[in-house]
Amino acid sequence: MSLVLTNRFKIKDSHKLKVYEKTGGYASIDKLFAMKPGDVIEEVKLSGVRGRGGAGFPAGLKWSFIPKDSDKPKYLAVNADESEPGTFKDRYLMEEDPHQLIEGIIICSYAIDCHTAYIYIRGEFDLAYRRLEEAIAEAYQKGYLGKNIFGKGYDLEVYVHRGAGAYICGEETALLESLEGKRGNPRIKPPFPAVVGLFNCPTVINNVETISTLPFILNNGHEAYRNWGTEKSPGTKLFSVSGHIKNPGCYEVPLGYPLKDLLEKECGGIAGTGRLKAVIPGGSSVPVLTAEEAMKVNLDYESIAAAGSMLGSGGVIVIDDSIDMLWALRNLAKFYSHESCGQCTPCREGTGWTYQILDRIYREGGTQEDLNLLNEIADNMVGKTICVLADALAMPVQSYLKKFPEDFRRHIS
Ligand code: SF4
Repeated sequence: MSLVLTNRFKIKDSHKLKVYEKTGGYASIDKLFAMKPGDVIEEVKLSGVRGRGGAGFPAGLKWSFIPKDSDKPKYLAVNADESEPGTFKDRYLMEEDPHQLIEGIIICSYAIDCHTAYIYIRGEFDLAYRRLEEAIAEAYQKGYLGKNIFGKGYDLEVYVHRGAGAYICGEETALLESLEGKRGNPRIKPPFPAVVGLFNCPTVINNVETISTLPFILNNGHEAYRNWGTEKSPGTKLFSVSGHIKNPGCYEVPLGYPLKDLLEKECGGIAGTGRLKAVIPGGSSVPVLTAEEAMKVNLDYESIAAAGSMLGSGGVIVIDDSIDMLWALRNLAKFYSHESCGQCTPCREGTGWTYQILDRIYREGGTQEDLNLLNEIADNMVGKTICVLADALAMPVQSYLKKFPEDFRRHIS
C-alpha cells in the first residue's frame, strides 16, 4: 500500500538525491514558492497533521504562533533526538529518506519566514547522521539549499547538530539550551519557544516525522492527506514495534488502525511464549495497557487516550507473559532516575526513590506499605515539575501497580 512517509524505503539508494528526484522528490517546491507563507500554514492547518514527537499538538497551529511583526530572526529546530525507549522511526526516516526531511524543512522554513534551520540529531545515530550530511551536501551543490534556493530569491542554511546522549535533550526547551551550547536543562514555559526560543528568537520545534510529512501535504493537498486516519487524528503514523514480537520493525499505518492488526497482521504475532501480557503503546513513558485493552484499542490519539494511555512517540513495546512487571518497571525507573536533569525536587528525588524502592522489593522483598509509598510518590510527581520527565515515570508506576497487582504482591508476600 502506498502511504505517506515510507514509500521509498525499499528502493535501492533511496537516500541519494538522484533517486529522490526520480521518484517525485522536490516536486512540491514550485508549488511552495507560488504560495504565500500564510497560505502554506493554512494548508498544513487544514491537513490536521499533529506533531509526531509525542505531544500530538497540531503542527500548523504551532507555526501560526510565530509572531509576524517580530523583526528578530526566526528559527526552525528539527527534533531528531529520538531518545524515548522503544522508538526508532525517525532514525529510519533519516537513514532511508533524508531528502524528504530536507524538502519538509524548506516548506516549514518558508512558511514561518526562517532562513536558518537546525537538525538536532541523537549522537548515537551514526548512519543517519552521515546520510543526512551527505544529503545536505547534495542539496547545497544542486542549489536546493544556501543562497537563492531553486532560483527563487529565498535563502536557507541547514545545520546538523549532534547530541551527546542525554534523554532530556529530546525535550524541546532542553534541546534549545543544548543547541545554544549550554547544559540541556528544560526551561519553564511560558514563554513558549514560538515567541522566545532559540537565542531568544521565535522558533518552531517539530519532530523529524512531522516535517517529513510536509512534501506529501504540499504535493497532494490536505484532502488527500485526510484520506487516511480519523477526523481528529488524520494521516498516517510510523510505529516502532519491539519486544516479544515475531517481526519487529518500523511500520507505517493509517491512524485509527487496530493495534491488534498491527501486531498480528503486520508484525506476524507474539513471539516469546506466544501469550501477550501487556503492550506499551507510545514509548516507555506512557501508561501500560493490559493484553485485553491492547486487543481492543485503535492507534489514534483519541482511542488510546480513552483506553487510559497515550499514542506518544508510537514506540510499541510488546511484553509476553514470562515478564515480571515489577522487574520491567524497575528497569524503567533506573533509566528515568539516571536521565533526570535534577532541577526539580519531585523529579530528582522522586525518580531516585522510586528506583531504590523497586530495586529493594525486587532483590529483598517488601511490604504493602512500599506499594502505597510508590503510589504516593507518583502522586507527588505528576504535573508538579518543569517538564514531563517526572510524569514519564510516575504515570507508568501507577498503571503498572493498578493493572498488574499480582506481579507486585508476589514480591511482598
Ligand atoms: Fe529536569 Fe526532571 Fe524537572 Fe524535567 S522534571 S526539568 S528532567 S528535574
